[in-house]
Amino acid sequence: MTSAAEHLDPALRVEALASLLAERGLIDEATVENFIKIYEQSVGPMNGAKVVAKAWTDPGYRARLIADGTGAIAELGFKGPQGEHIVVLENTPTVHHVVVCTLCSCYPWPVLGLPPSWYKDPAYRSRVVREPRQVLREFGLDLDDQVEIRVRDSSSEVRYLVLPERPAGTESLSEEELAGLVTRDAMVGVAKVAGP
Ligand code: FE
Repeated sequence: MTSAAEHLDPALRVEALASLLAERGLIDEATVENFIKIYEQSVGPMNGAKVVAKAWTDPGYRARLIADGTGAIAELGFKGPQGEHIVVLENTPTVHHVVVCTLCSCYPWPVLGLPPSWYKDPAYRSRVVREPRQVLREFGLDLDDQVEIRVRDSSSEVRYLVLPERPAGTESLSEEELAGLVTRDAMVGVAKVAGP
């Protein structure tokens, strides 16, 4: 279905819907704010960042995470809808993984929260498969020609979390400090984690 409304700025549409629902007494602002906070702070990418930091500092955990992503992630208390089967992809100096959902916008909610708009963009979804090196360059990630890029297509069955490389110069950082370096983009594979 296409309509004029689809071409409106999504932020405007959301605002219009929220006002309408509030006006009719179906929702209240505080509830909406709360919901947004939960997704930003509790089930947002900081959950994934904790998983990554633990994997960087605890080899046993790292091994469990690679062998059984869902189980190892649940050890930290992160589970729920859209996270029933999470596979962790380990980036190395020679192999770089990047995640897409070519069909829609499947995404591992318990570790990354809600997907950013570019992840749902048809251009990203089709182009990253055909020309990943170029798309990554547009994200500011210029990978060496020798690095193999593996594009993984999410589905309703399997969601992926990229385990980025630990940056150099972070040997003295605590697990919490390390988690602070890990970004959402690095866990989708369109960026690397930068050092402190
Ligand atoms: Fe999808």
